[in-house]
Amino acid sequence: MDCPACHAANTAEAVACAACGSPLSSEKKPSRPSRRSNGRRRSDDPSETAVESNHPTAWHAYRLALWSLLPGFGLVLGPLGMFYGWRAVRGVGDDRSARNRAKASVLLSVAATLLQWLGLALMIYGWDK
Ligand SMILES: [Zn+2]
Repeated sequence: MDCPACHAANTAEAVACAACGSPLSSEKKPSRPSRRSNGRRRSDDPSETAVESNHPTAWHAYRLALWSLLPGFGLVLGPLGMFYGWRAVRGVGDDRSARNRAKASVLLSVAATLLQWLGLALMIYGWDK
């Protein structure tokens, strides 16, 4: 297609004009956020960071991890929290706050699971004596 600004010929898939750089075919490809012209890195934008830090998988794992701290709950919810936490760690990409939350979920879940299974084992062991 031809550039609306300088009328240079461009390929149909071109997002910006090769000659003058002005955006092409805004109705076909409505301004993708990663293609903004200001050139800043995505993580430097506070509004995008705020949106990404609401990563649902990380929050899901974090809630599971918190519930697993309750005595008894961790026997089942702990392994679940580990699973979801680990998936969240790998799934959040370079979102640092969500990644930290996911890592905290894994640590909490591992601690809750070990302590509660150990406690249960000690109770059973003590019962038999
Ligand atoms: Zn042009």
